[in-house]
Formats: sequence, structure tokens, C-alpha cells
Amino acid sequence: MNEKILIIEDELNIARMLQLELEREGYLCTVAADGEAGLAAALSGEYALALLDVMLPKMDGFAVLKALREQSSMAVIMLTARGEIEDRVEGLELGADDYLTKPFAMRELTARVRTALRHAKPQETHLLTCGKLQLDRLQGKAWFDGEELLLTHKELEILGYFMAHKNETCSREELLREVWGYDYMGDTNLIDVYIRYLRGKIDQRFGVQYLKTVRGLGYVFGDADE
Ligand code: CA
Repeated sequence: MNEKILIIEDELNIARMLQLELEREGYLCTVAADGEAGLAAALSGEYALALLDVMLPKMDGFAVLKALREQSSMAVIMLTARGEIEDRVEGLELGADDYLTKPFAMRELTARVRTALRHAKPQETHLLTCGKLQLDRLQGKAWFDGEELLLTHKELEILGYFMAHKNETCSREELLREVWGYDYMGDTNLIDVYIRYLRGKIDQRFGVQYLKTVRGLGYVFGDADE
């Protein structure tokens, strides 16, 4: 089972290095050197995963991802030279499965690729409920008391994880691992950003409290105090 990986990267020395490393791991690789060529190749349906650089000629990585996600749920790992948390959040919001910040260790790359491929299997359908809150993982929608919530892709995934683990304390590391699919590597701030978004869109908006902070441990999602 030689899975095919598409490398969308204009810096050819980096692309070549990625290709060599991934081929050594047994994957088949193709390189696309600009955004347009990358998108066309990604849409062919031939590849299990794309490594997608952000800064690309013709069409940047975010635009490629946005267009790709309208038609495909293939695994995508963004490659970014920029360390800003907002850039990572933007990629994840557009539907990236993960990101790697350059420069990265090859061992980290192959670990992330394996994890993303493992998580790329089709999602089970699920209707989750908690009090007045409902979430349909198949439709990718959530409602409070029948009113649809305007949640982004990752917000829905995190909310779904919490709803499936009601009344359990979830650590930031666990949320990163389970929602993003890799072992914690130093970015728990990302979780706090998302918790703030979810609280704003649910707890504060409807005057309820589903999400509670457990000092030093993480968060617990439970029946709202109404
Ligand atoms: Ca580039």
C-alpha cells in the first residue's frame, strides 16, 4: 500500500528533500511547484495527502486549500515559514489537518504524515446532544435550542470532542492530540484561543455555562447551568 503524497512547494531544494525522505518511508511522491499546478494535481483524487506550502507563486497555499476543500477531504498538512499563531489558525480553519513550521525535523514530518493519513479515514456519522445543544458531525452543524450556531471547522471538531466526552476533564494536550491528531509539541495556546471562541459563541451568547476551566488540568464540558 504505497500511498501517494503530493508536495506543493516552490522551493525545489526543500521539495526534493521532502520527496527523498518520504520515498525512503515508502510513499510515492509528486512535486508541484506552484499553487495552480498543486490544486489541479490535488483535485485529481490520486493522492492520499498533500504537503502544502503557504507562500507559493500563482496561488498561495491558503487559496489552494480553500478551493480544494470545496471538493475534497484529502489530508492536508500546511508548511509554513511563519510562526504566527494566527497563520496556523487560518490554515486549520480552512480545513488543514495539521501544520509544520519550517524549519522542521524530518522525523517530525514523517510522524505527522503518518498521523494525518491515519486520521484521514471517513468520519462516522454522529448526532450528539447535551441539554439544548445539538451537533451533527455528518452535516457539520450545531444548534442551541434549535438555532444554528455559526461555528468554524475546528470549533465544531472541538465541540464534538467535548460533547462525546461529557463531564470528563479534558487536558489541552488531549484536545490537541485528539482533535489535531498528534502528540503535544508545545502549542497549548491554540486550545485556549479556541476555548475563548467557543465560549463567546455559546456560553456568553446564550448566558449558559457548558465549558468550565479546571485549574491546572484543562477543561470540562457538562450540562449547562441555566
Ligand atoms: Ca514557498
